[in-house]
Amino acid sequence: MSKMEKIKMTTPLVEMDGDEMTRILWKMIKEELLLPFIDLKTEYYDLGLEYRNETEDQVTIDSANATKKYGVAVKCATITPNAARVEEYHLKEMWKSPNGTIRAILDGTVFRAPIIVKGIEPYVRNWKKPITIARHAYGDVYKAAEIKIPEAGKCELVYTKENGEEIRELVHTFDGAGIVQGMHNTEKSIRSFAKSCFSFALDQKQDLWFGSKDTISKKYDHTFKDIFQEVFDTEYKEKFEAAGISYMYTLIDDIVARVVRSEGGYIWACKNYDGDVMSDMLATAFGSLSMMTSVLVSPDGIYEYEAAHGTVQRHYYQHLKGMETSTNPIATIFAWTGALRKRGELDQIPELCRFADQLEQACLTTIESGKMTKDLAIISTLEQVTALNSREFIAEIRRNLEQML
Ligand code: NAP
Ligand code: MG
Repeated sequence: MSKMEKIKMTTPLVEMDGDEMTRILWKMIKEELLLPFIDLKTEYYDLGLEYRNETEDQVTIDSANATKKYGVAVKCATITPNAARVEEYHLKEMWKSPNGTIRAILDGTVFRAPIIVKGIEPYVRNWKKPITIARHAYGDVYKAAEIKIPEAGKCELVYTKENGEEIRELVHTFDGAGIVQGMHNTEKSIRSFAKSCFSFALDQKQDLWFGSKDTISKKYDHTFKDIFQEVFDTEYKEKFEAAGISYMYTLIDDIVARVVRSEGGYIWACKNYDGDVMSDMLATAFGSLSMMTSVLVSPDGIYEYEAAHGTVQRHYYQHLKGMETSTNPIATIFAWTGALRKRGELDQIPELCRFADQLEQACLTTIESGKMTKDLAIISTLEQVTALNSREFIAEIRRNLEQML
């Protein structure tokens, strides 16, 4: 290998380091699978909780702004602090979720897709290709106002314009106790969501499906349907035709039925709640959370790649006790390959794209040869399976990669 020239990069990737076990894997992946082969150019931001605390979370904001500047980032899993973490890390404050902060700055949508490999079989027999879920990440039931109705009385929705004019709508005349909920969304957010979905579909050359309940929700859900259609007709219709892909809108229950019958290979756009529920269903049905990738895409085409899982805290505490762990690095490796491939496309460095493909192939070849981490070993349908620790597994991937290069 030493004779081979390393692949050169022109624009840096924004590198967002993270926490716990994934931070350990991050370093191993760079040392074993990237630095020996690529003249890696990154602009490094340490999103580990200690440094976020030290900078009062400014580092998270800086990393998001750098992503806006360069266009592509790769992110390690990070701790979202709760009360226990405030104590554990002596935090000045319960800092917000870094993913939430980055998503707000980039105004992006998160796309999650499973990594498909022989030996890890989906529970749905006919799924052959990944199904990517796009979840709208603003509003609806997640930003709702609720009242517990104590006794009989009238409940109305009241909207007051800035000039004082009102629009009223009766929700219900209660004859006893009950509950009520008022939720909202904004045209701007729905439009951004639609654009992110259409541009990601084009990027992936995959069909886009979107479903809601417009037959029942004639104003709320219907607005989603209308905005998607308008954005499609005015900005994407011709591009979709040229790429040979399609956009389909149908009712959410019809989509669910179609998803189960399908062989996969498309993007499924979901309203916030549907996306919350359906992404866990898909992740489980495809086999393993440690094999899910995630990419945040902004409406203007900025990409931030990461693994869908967290920092794998339980394994980290074992690691701190000096034990080797069998933590699966695949989704984190695929975050790197996704980012490197995108950088290669934008900067027209085909060797970089090819390297990303080869590294992914080396991961799959390793698993298909029966060598994998414990989480996969226990669900694998292969006959000969060896469970390796993370270090051994990464070394095996490197061996397969070097054979391919
Ligand atoms: P987690 O890190 O996703 O892990 C939950 C469990 O899933 C693990 O204990 C492990 O099961 C299994 N698992 C997940 N990823 C794995 C991998 N790569 N290899 C093997 N097993 C894997 O979730 P968590 O423990 O609930 O959360 C830990 C921290 O992550 C939290 O502080 C949370 O805030 C953060 N988090 C961050 C992100 C992000 O940055 N995107 C997302 C989610 C959570 P076993 O223990 O049974 O082996
Ligand atoms: Mg959920």
